[in-house]
Amino acid sequence: MPLPPKTIALAGNPNAGKTSIFNEMTGSAQQVSNYPGVTVERKEGMMRCGCGRVRVIDLPGTYSLSAYSPEEVIARDVIINDQPDLVVNIIDASNLERNLYLTIQLMELRPEMILVLNMIDRAEKNGLAIDIEKMSKLLGVGVVTTIANRSEGIKKLVCQCDQAMNQTGHTPPALITYGHPIDEVIGRVQAVIESAIGNTGRYQSRWLAVKLIEGEDQVIRLVQTMAREHYGEINQAVNRAAKHIEDHFNDDVASIIAERRFGFAAGVVRECVTLRGQARQQATDQIDEIVCHKVFGPLILVAAVTALFFAVFKLSDEWRWIPWLSGMVSPTGLVEMFFGWLSGLIAPMAQSMPTLHSILDDAVIGGVGGVLGFVPLIFIMFFFIGILEDCGYVARVAFIMDRILRIFGLQGKSILPMIVAGGLGAGGCAVPAVMATRILRDEKDRLITMLVVPFMNCGAKLPVFAMLIAAFFPHARTRAMLGLWVLSWVVALICALILRKWVIKGEQTPFVMELPSYHIPMVKGVLRHSIERTWLYIKKAGTIILAVNLLVWAAMSFPKLPQEQAVNDLGQPLAAVELAEKELGYSFAGRIGHALEPLSEWAGFDWRTNIALASGFAAKELIVSAMGTVYSISEQGEGEPFNLSQHLAESPQWGPVRAFALMVFVMLYAPCLATVAVIRRESNSWKWPAFSVFWSTFLAFVLAVVIYQLGNIVIP
Ligand code: GDP
Ligand code: MG
Repeated sequence: MPLPPKTIALAGNPNAGKTSIFNEMTGSAQQVSNYPGVTVERKEGMMRCGCGRVRVIDLPGTYSLSAYSPEEVIARDVIINDQPDLVVNIIDASNLERNLYLTIQLMELRPEMILVLNMIDRAEKNGLAIDIEKMSKLLGVGVVTTIANRSEGIKKLVCQCDQAMNQTGHTPPALITYGHPIDEVIGRVQAVIESAIGNTGRYQSRWLAVKLIEGEDQVIRLVQTMAREHYGEINQAVNRAAKHIEDHFNDDVASIIAERRFGFAAGVVRECVTLRGQARQQATDQIDEIVCHKVFGPLILVAAVTALFFAVFKLSDEWRWIPWLSGMVSPTGLVEMFFGWLSGLIAPMAQSMPTLHSILDDAVIGGVGGVLGFVPLIFIMFFFIGILEDCGYVARVAFIMDRILRIFGLQGKSILPMIVAGGLGAGGCAVPAVMATRILRDEKDRLITMLVVPFMNCGAKLPVFAMLIAAFFPHARTRAMLGLWVLSWVVALICALILRKWVIKGEQTPFVMELPSYHIPMVKGVLRHSIERTWLYIKKAGTIILAVNLLVWAAMSFPKLPQEQAVNDLGQPLAAVELAEKELGYSFAGRIGHALEPLSEWAGFDWRTNIALASGFAAKELIVSAMGTVYSISEQGEGEPFNLSQHLAESPQWGPVRAFALMVFVMLYAPCLATVAVIRRESNSWKWPAFSVFWSTFLAFVLAVVIYQLGNIVIP
């Protein structure tokens, strides 16, 4: 008995040329109409090709698959229920953006699919040049061009259909992304559906999730029958998801999702179509003409970022704009005042309970306060970046940077985490940056970005640079900072390239950058989001940094020097300074510092620097304060206030070469514990954080040694 014939379904907008192609393929003579609504019923015909007789179904023309009209329901039901072996989506190439809207919805059903760009003659007449290969890669489907009324391209199309039906295994189209935070909530609903229903059969669980969130009655009824008593859970998850989206965008969920689909279609068109000659442009296109321009684009980017940092630093720290009892203060000043007040509050304890006072003052107030002092800055930065994201600009940043970053094995969107980490100069944080890599959908792109993000100059490295530059490069401050900034990028990009070539190998994935139309940002949503992100940072200060501060404090305070050793060679009691130095040397931290000295000497670091660097692994905020403590304890008399920068500048063992080697080491060595912890969480394995720690420390050490050794030859 012969096998039942395979089936091809033709889908597309009205007037895209489906019937023309249907007639060409089957040799029948259905009515070709140039107005919509004629092909309401499905029509069938047979076609001969390499794999024998094939049934071809001409679906009614639709603009969408939302089940608003009988045509849409017929088209969708055929694809889901009849399960054709192949869906051929015929689109009007002269009207790509509108036609792709249906394509995107077809793709979401994830059938085996071929895209036909029909009416390519009209597209060319309108001055559109379409990059077929790129489109095929981006959408994950084969693309063929035809001119159906002149029978051009039909043979090629039949040949492609043949191939697609003969291949073994299913190659579904690419996943459609809705961008942050919609993808996230879709994922959550999808998970609930999967756990409630289990196998969703021929329905893609992601498609069900999207349709439920859109609130489509037909799919709601379908899921009700599939889930039965579990439907309550699903419904709850869906309501939560819809509410989340509506709160965030302050609009109804169905229109937001539709808008994102159009955004995706617009992204595809922008990626694949170049305009020759004239074509009408909409407001967004006109803005993009300038914002995504080859020359102006990057200039505008630099200007925007400069403005961002200017505003952030001024608002958080430099401008005193909050009225307070004692006059006007800055937000950072306010936080610092609070911790100063706390410190004063416990000052009387210094005499009666010196150990407890030292713990509270140095480890708790000093450490946590130092970190919380950054909260205003971080909040304001998140807020402004959120505004840029919401109005649609950040998507363009990725678009502009894509070409450059691709050379180094990254992609355009990687720029955003790098910016969060401090890539625009200095003063970010790798912790939110690692979390920001979630915007990258491809696992490999994400990993590589995650591993190079810590090389950027985060806010915690700044004090170290500032202190050393003041001491050794006082006349070249700007140049020195600029040099460090360039170096951080050079190292990050080269490392990305190395990782892509040898460690996390793989084809770079082309991506569709959703280019949503520009709109006025939703301040409420942005505000809520910034508060959430800032709260994560505060939690880090209250947990990890507090714990580590206590640990470092203990390591520098214990074990206590035995009484009999607190004397000099002649048996006399030591002076306060020598005693302090000896006590520090005897402590755990001191011993670690000494133990590392034989190795660290290569890079010019003595045991005191080693102590600071070791505590810096916990949190880079600790480096300067640890150096201050270590050097002030061991080398300075009591009384006059200690100035670390001045002290190092005057010290005969220190010089510009050693300082430079130290700065480079601090810039590149192991990411701090908090970063390690998020890399662990985000990569879901211990392998990558461990790799990051060893690899970056190794790299930092090698570079520091090279700088120190070469520097000492060049500058004797
Ligand atoms: P359907 O409604 O999607 O089935 O589209 P039809 O097959 O009825 O075609 C609509 C109109 O477009 C007809 O007048 C066709 O002759 C015309 N047409 C179809 N393909 C092409 C093409 O590739 N180029 C041009 N210029 N016209 C085409
Ligand atoms: Mg027709």
